[in-house]
Amino acid sequence: MKKHNFSAGPCILPQEVLKKAAAAVLNFNNDDLSLIEISHRSKAFVHVMETARSLVLELLDLEGKGYSVLFLQGGASLEFLMTPYNLLKVNGKAAYLDTGTWSAKSIKEAKMMGTVDVVASSKDKNYSYIPKDFEIPGDTDYFHCTSNNTIFGTQIKEFPKTDSLLVCDMSSDIFSRQLDFSQFDLIYAGAQKNMGPAGTTLVVVKDEILGKTGRTIPSMLDYQVHIGKDSMFNTPSVFAVYVSMLTLQWLKDLGGIAEIEKINEAKAELLYNEIDSNPLFEGVAATEDRSYMNATFTLTDDTLKDKFDAAWQAAGINGLNGHRSVGGYRASMYNAMPLESVQVLVDVMQNFNK
Ligand SMILES: *Cc1c(COP(=O)(O)O)cnc(C)c1O
Repeated sequence: MKKHNFSAGPCILPQEVLKKAAAAVLNFNNDDLSLIEISHRSKAFVHVMETARSLVLELLDLEGKGYSVLFLQGGASLEFLMTPYNLLKVNGKAAYLDTGTWSAKSIKEAKMMGTVDVVASSKDKNYSYIPKDFEIPGDTDYFHCTSNNTIFGTQIKEFPKTDSLLVCDMSSDIFSRQLDFSQFDLIYAGAQKNMGPAGTTLVVVKDEILGKTGRTIPSMLDYQVHIGKDSMFNTPSVFAVYVSMLTLQWLKDLGGIAEIEKINEAKAELLYNEIDSNPLFEGVAATEDRSYMNATFTLTDDTLKDKFDAAWQAAGINGLNGHRSVGGYRASMYNAMPLESVQVLVDVMQNFNK
């Protein structure tokens, strides 16, 4: 039987997507060729890329609103650099919200390109909350935040209103909840948390914000170059794009973000209720900032660790260990995780208390 996969990333994908992907590796479209041995310029693959790009706009309700969709390589980590390269003006300034390890890494890259104003940080309490009282200076080129802090289990519920451009790393919660996505000027996300396998990074960018920095941008780092070539400037990560397309199709067939949001809320409520009511466990993140994707918790009595670990492993659960910088446990409940798997974990926690 397949394990209940709570891994933080790469992570669970829908079973039917994995089956279709496996079949396409052997024989794609009944053409007697593998998906990964045909030209990325072939009609069949161009169709995959175009379908994936348009599904993104459809699911985010951004059709006809001036956005381009790219499937790039280099992970979200390369976007930490591409964002300032494309948006930070020469002698300009960017504002960043520091809510975790990934935010801190994005700040490090931006500092190489110009002035960075860290408007607030929750580092003082090991990133267990989302700072809320901060001001974004009027003269910033863009404000950057991380919507969901995968490692610490916090999530921004309300995004600041700002006159500067709004940039968001949504790697671990894109397509998981309804938002007005048109409030963002640039969204990026590594595929491997909630959209597909590792190897491609989604970028959704408003066309009109580009080309205004006064910088010379290397081709591979220039969003306008990639947009001009319909996300095919160089060979894309064909397998990762294909599996992302299948996952987006799966989400659309399910009813889109509105439907998955309900399921994600039910999963998170089920688990957080258990964490709060079971005396053996304690949540890590501030209650109001709790992530619906990654729930972090600890045992109130550390000496029970070996016993608890044996209990969830015996129940067929995988990937529950917390990140080394937080310790304890982290249950990642991405879109493809069924409610039943969360119930298995909750049952283990309840039986453990008994
Ligand atoms: C995993 C993660 C990243 C890093 O993604 P890579 O694709 O490995 O570069 C960045 N930001 C967030 C929020 C993440 O969860």
